[in-house]
Amino acid sequence: MLKKARAVLPEKTLAFERFEPPVAETQLQGSKTILRNFEVICQKLRRDPATLSKYLSKELAVPATIDGSKLILHGKVFERVLNEKLSNFISAYVVCKECKRPDTKLVDGPHGIRTLVCEACGARAPAR
Ligand SMILES: [Zn+2]
Repeated sequence: MLKKARAVLPEKTLAFERFEPPVAETQLQGSKTILRNFEVICQKLRRDPATLSKYLSKELAVPATIDGSKLILHGKVFERVLNEKLSNFISAYVVCKECKRPDTKLVDGPHGIRTLVCEACGARAPAR
């Protein structure tokens, strides 16, 4: 039923109005926490893995290592906490402040100040 109803909607509407933020899937491994779908998250958000890794490491106060498609956090991190940080990252560095779409890119400016530039509406905002 649901499948049929969706097929009728134009694809563009779906893509814009149904931006579903990726959900982090973690796995505890001894004293480490593995973020299993790290690469998928980066691809979905179109962000450099190093940028997200650095952000999470700083916010969670644990060292992080990128291991192929996974991210290894050297500490115990609850999935709920990780997802909170991830959604903070998305609102600060991914979603346009003006139109709320995720079609943005991060541009490095002078003095290490990064700007979030929206490809949909052209808005620019400093990313902190
Ligand atoms: Zn925008």
